[in-house]
Amino acid sequence: MSDYNQNQYQRYVSEFLESNITPYANKFEKEGSFDREIIYKISEAGFLGANIPEDYGGSNLDMLQIGIIHEQFARVSSSIRSILTSSGMVALAILRWGNEKQRRKWLPRLASGECVGAFALAEQEAGSDAGNIQMEAVREKNHYILNGQKKWVTMGQIADLYLVFAKCNGNYTAFLVEKNKCVLVEKQDGLLGLRASMIANLSFENCKVSDGNILGVEGAGLEYVASSCLDYGRYTVAWACLGISQACVDICVNYVKKRRQFGAALIEHQLIQQMITRMIVSTNAVRLYCNNVARLRENGEAESIVETWSAKYLSSKAANEIASNAIQILGAEGCCDKHPIERYFREAKIFEIIEGTSQLHEIIIAGSYS
Ligand SMILES: Cc1cc2nc3c(=O)[nH]c(=O)nc-3n(C[C@H](O)[C@H](O)[C@H](O)COP(=O)(O)OP(=O)(O)OC[C@H]3O[C@@H](n4cnc5c(N)ncnc54)[C@H](O)[C@@H]3O)c2cc1C
Repeated sequence: MSDYNQNQYQRYVSEFLESNITPYANKFEKEGSFDREIIYKISEAGFLGANIPEDYGGSNLDMLQIGIIHEQFARVSSSIRSILTSSGMVALAILRWGNEKQRRKWLPRLASGECVGAFALAEQEAGSDAGNIQMEAVREKNHYILNGQKKWVTMGQIADLYLVFAKCNGNYTAFLVEKNKCVLVEKQDGLLGLRASMIANLSFENCKVSDGNILGVEGAGLEYVASSCLDYGRYTVAWACLGISQACVDICVNYVKKRRQFGAALIEHQLIQQMITRMIVSTNAVRLYCNNVARLRENGEAESIVETWSAKYLSSKAANEIASNAIQILGAEGCCDKHPIERYFREAKIFEIIEGTSQLHEIIIAGSYS
């Protein structure tokens, strides 16, 4: 995409957000939910079907456009942004590992918002160690019976389709489970941030799932299906963290010119200059990294996988430092919800945990060079 088209697309996304999400973002965060109507608007604008081909009702955007969407959404509402990741992960799994019948059935509905997708991997005893999932699937004739619990499922409260990972004869397997009576949905409250991402804990009790709802083959669940979903999730989170960093820079640069202490604007104090410089340079570096990863992914380069890990690691670390310094620069003003910075600060921490913790990133990235 040329610089001109990139800027134009960015304007398109931010104008959409300004009209449809920004005025209500704080309300959603306080109430811990948002209306279904918002999902349809996001769909109409082409964001929900970003990674779905036009043949299946999607908007088939390129990697840079997808990055821009996540950057811009994170400035306004990381909670609403998270539906783009969760439904996007489910769509990607179906597109890549599903059969034609599954693609025709689900992808148009995921793109239109008629169906919200949620990724259900984590369990009480399986966080970073995803291989420790206990959920079980037993095959009976032409269906499976699923039993077990899932935790921390983003959009789990409103999802219509869960991508669920279970062990079947000891093989990790991915299932598409439609919302139904055998899935008990329990709201997860009290979150540090992303309070409107409608997280749920799920219990599956003798849940009958047709063998037509298995994704790929038995045994493909973690190594193929979950890995590719999490790779996409990491890419979107890397850009979301860039959005947080850039928004902090924009707010702080404006603030330090206006706020005066000791007879001078804050920007004239050298210790403030140091923080501002670090924020700007670090954000610019992350932007270059994310742009490069977008290019690698667009070209299908093998190194795009480890570079996506690196981008998410770098970007989430930077967002944490930048959001913390942004509060420092605003002082007491930064400690209340008059500015979104206190929210960015809370969200940045979560981004060091989801889609692989920072420690797991350190293990994987170092491991890829050994
Ligand atoms: C807001 C939010 C949304 C989420 N959404 C989803 C979702 O939609 N679907 C889903 O399946 N899950 C979701 N999760 C769960 C998320 O994937 C897990 O929180 C994450 O994988 C980390 O697992 P854990 O929290 O159990 O931490 P643990 O794995 O228990 O780790 C705790 C700490 O130990 C460290 N640690 C663990 N192993 C090692 C090691 N080998 N070496 C060094 N340090 C280690 C970790 O880095 C971390 O600091 C969500 C979580 C949150 C907070």
